[in-house]
Amino acid sequence: MHEVKKPKKPLIFYYIIVLAALLLINFLFVPWAAERQVKEVGYDTFMDMTADKNIGEVQINQQDNEIVFTDKDNTAIYKTGMVEDPGLTDRLHDAGAKFSGQIIEQESPILAFLLSWIVPIVIFIALGQYMSRKLMNKAGGDNSMIFGMGRSNAKVYVKSSEGIRFADVAGEDEAKENLSEIVEYLHNPSKYREIGASMPKGILLVGPPGTGKTMLAKAVAGESNVPFFSMSGSEFVEMFVGMGASKVRDLFRQAKEKAPCIVFIDEIDAIGQKRDGRVGGNDEREQTLNQLLTEMDGFETNNGVIILAATNRPESLDPALTRPGRFDRRVPVELPDLKGREEILKVHAKKVRLDESVDFAAIARMASGASGAELANIVNEAALRAVRQNRNFVTQADLEESIEVVIAGYQKKNAILTDQEKKVVAYHEVGHALVAAMQSHSAPVQKITIVPRTSGALGYTMQVEEGNHYLMSQEELENKIATLTGGRAAEELVFHSASTGASNDIEQATKLARAMITRYGMSKDFDMVAMETVTNQYLGGDASLSCSAETQTEIDRQVVELVKKQHRKADQILAENRDKLDELADYLYEKETITGEEFMEILTHQSSVPIQ
Ligand code: ADP
Repeated sequence: MHEVKKPKKPLIFYYIIVLAALLLINFLFVPWAAERQVKEVGYDTFMDMTADKNIGEVQINQQDNEIVFTDKDNTAIYKTGMVEDPGLTDRLHDAGAKFSGQIIEQESPILAFLLSWIVPIVIFIALGQYMSRKLMNKAGGDNSMIFGMGRSNAKVYVKSSEGIRFADVAGEDEAKENLSEIVEYLHNPSKYREIGASMPKGILLVGPPGTGKTMLAKAVAGESNVPFFSMSGSEFVEMFVGMGASKVRDLFRQAKEKAPCIVFIDEIDAIGQKRDGRVGGNDEREQTLNQLLTEMDGFETNNGVIILAATNRPESLDPALTRPGRFDRRVPVELPDLKGREEILKVHAKKVRLDESVDFAAIARMASGASGAELANIVNEAALRAVRQNRNFVTQADLEESIEVVIAGYQKKNAILTDQEKKVVAYHEVGHALVAAMQSHSAPVQKITIVPRTSGALGYTMQVEEGNHYLMSQEELENKIATLTGGRAAEELVFHSASTGASNDIEQATKLARAMITRYGMSKDFDMVAMETVTNQYLGGDASLSCSAETQTEIDRQVVELVKKQHRKADQILAENRDKLDELADYLYEKETITGEEFMEILTHQSSVPIQ
C-alpha cells in the first residue's frame, strides 16, 4: 500500500530544453547551409581565381551554359555563365583544377529552407510529443489527454492483505457497525440483489479532523479486499475550467472498470460547497460538482462502486449532493469518548515498548477532548521522550508529559520569569483549581503547573473528568465560568491588580456565557429562542447571530451580567479560603508542578471549610 508520487517537472522545463536545442541547431547549421549555397559570380572572378590557382573542382555544363566550380579548399560553391574561352581547359589544368565529371553537390534553396526551418520544427514537435508521453506515463498511462491534464491522479490501492482493517481503528464502534454493512455487501452483493435492496451509492463520513475518517474508509477497502481509489477534493480543482470535471469522469471510468471497488474523496467540501449563485463564483468548482452529481446519477445502483467521502464541514455541502440517491447515508465519526481514547492509545502503543507502570485509563482521562490523531501523536511523543532520556521503554511519566506537549507545547527551558511574575502565575493557577474544587460539580484537579510552555502558556491547571459527559446542566456551566474567572479573582484578591494572563480565560468564559444565552435557552428573557446558529460544528464551532440589533444589545448585557455574577462567586470562594490559597500558591511556587493528590491533601488537611 505505497503511495509514492514522483515529483513532476513543470512542462515549461521541457520546452525550454527543446527551445535551446533549436537555437543551437540554427546557430551551427544555418551558417554551414548558407555556405553550401551556390554563389553566382562574374566570369572575371572565375578567371582571377583560376590565375590565382584558387580553384578546386570544376564542372562545365554545356547544356545549361554554365560553369560550376569550388574554391581550392572546397568550402564554397560558385557559378558563372559560359564565355567563348579557347585556352580555358589548359589554364584550368595548370591551376590544378579537378574535372571530376560528377555533379558538385549543390544546396538547393528548397533544401536549405527545409533544413533551417522544417527540420527543427519537426524535431521540436517530436520532442514535445515524447515528453508529453513521458509525463503521461508518470501520471499512470492513457495517452489520450494532453500532458496528463484532466487525469484523475487517483491513487489506487490494489487488493492487499496487509491493508488497514477495522481492528486497527479503535473506538468508533457505531461508525464501524454502519460501514460493516458495506463490507458485507461487497463480499456478497447477490444477497442484496435477490431481495431487491440497493446499497447507498455514497456515504458521507462527517466529523472533526483527525478522528479516523480516512482510516475507516481504508479499513472498509481492507476488509472487503477490493481496490481503493483515494483522492482529495482539492485535487479536482484545477486552474483551467473543465479540467476538474474531466478528472471526475476519468476517476469514475477507472472505478467502473475495477468494480467492485471503493472510491474515497477526502475533504469533499472543496468541490461540494453550496452553489449559491454569487457573481464571480468559482466556475471550475461548480462544473466539477455538476460532473460529480452527473456521474453519481449515471451509474446504476448495485454495480459495486461505493463512494465514501469525508468532510468536517457537512453544513456547507450542496443539498444536491446530500439528497437520497447520491450521498444518502451520513456516518458521524465523533471525537472518541473515554473508552474510545483508551482503546486508541492501546492500538498505537502496540508499536512501542512499555513500562509496566503505564495506566492507559489514567492517560485517557487526562487527554479529554483529544482526537485519534492527537492520541497517536501523544504515544509517539512519549516514545521520543524515552529515547531522549536514553531509555528503551516508555513510562507513565513520558505519556503524561507528552499530553502536556501536545496540549501546551514543549517546556520553555530559557523563559525567565521574574519572582513577582512567578508568584502571580502561581496564584492565578491555584485560583482556578481552588474555585473548581470548591464547587461541587466541577471536576477535580489533576495537575497544576507553572512551567512556561512554548504555546505561550505560563502555567495551567489540568482538570480531569471522571466519566463521559454528554449533558451539562446550567449549574455546571455556571461553575465552569466561575472556575475560568478564578485565576483573575485570585490575582485581584492578593495583588489588587489585574494582569494579561487571563486573556484566554476571558475568551472561553465569554464564549460559554454567550452560548448559554443564545443557543442553550438558559436566559429567562429569551426562553427557547435561538439567537445564534452554529456554522462550523466540527471546526471550532463558530456561530453567527440571527437577531435584531436591539436583541444583540440585550444579549451583550446579559452575557456581561452572567460572567460578572460568576466572577463575584469566585471572589467569594477565594476570600473564604484565603489561607488555603496562600498555602497552595506557596507550595506551587516552590515545586512548580503539583499533582491532584498533593493538591487535595493540602486542601483537606485541617481544612476550615469542608469541600461540599
Ligand atoms: P481524518 O481523516 O478524520 O482527518 P485520519 O483517518 O487521517 O483522520 O487519522 C489520522 C491519524 O490519526 C491516523 O493515521 C491514525 O494514526 C490516527 N487515528 C485517528 N483515529 C483513530 C482511531 N479511531 N483509531 C486508531 N487511530 C486513529
